[in-house]
Amino acid sequence: MAFYTEEQTEDYLFKIVLIGDSAVGKSNLLARFARDEFYPNSKSTIGVEFQTQKIDIKGKEVKAQIWDTAGQERFRAVTSAYYRGAVGALVVYDVSRRQTFDSIGRWLNELQTYSDMNVVTILVGNKSDLKDAREVTTAEGKSLAEAQGLFFIETSALDSSNVAAAFQTVVKEIYNILSRKVI
Ligand code: GDP
Ligand code: MG
Repeated sequence: MAFYTEEQTEDYLFKIVLIGDSAVGKSNLLARFARDEFYPNSKSTIGVEFQTQKIDIKGKEVKAQIWDTAGQERFRAVTSAYYRGAVGALVVYDVSRRQTFDSIGRWLNELQTYSDMNVVTILVGNKSDLKDAREVTTAEGKSLAEAQGLFFIETSALDSSNVAAAFQTVVKEIYNILSRKVI
């Protein structure tokens, strides 16, 4: 049986994947969270990238290795390797583009197919700053998340709203599940 001491919990490294349609803001959510940067006209790039970020949970330092599709999703070519070992996921849509919300089911299916375990998942409605262009209501997002048993949050990578909270919610839950298992 595994036994984790207090010290060992500091070595936790959680793989978290960002998924969702092209241009919903995945790369900018990561840029905002990890570097407090925003790119108004970002173009998707090729190749998988990840960024490791330290997150403080109840005074403990946990490392999240956050993976970005880096453009693969444009060709619906996110590989199984991308999902392998993931313990958390942010499934992102753009509240100003209903089509990206309609794709969520497909992304959840893919996540379930390729991941090797139950992945702590949060549904993220990004671009909440685009108030006049909104096509998906908060209630719709919340209701889908409830039906699928997911966490839910609306974010804006542009104005920083809820960005840290989105990542922290996932990491905190993974940490809680792991601590429950070893007690
Ligand atoms: P990705 O393809 O999902 O990685 O999306 P990107 O992060 O590349 O973002 C696509 C476009 O949406 C870029 O032009 C971003 O500047 C813009 N964008 C990303 N997040 C937000 C946001 O929260 N609000 C607004 N208004 N634009 C955003
Ligand atoms: Mg991207």
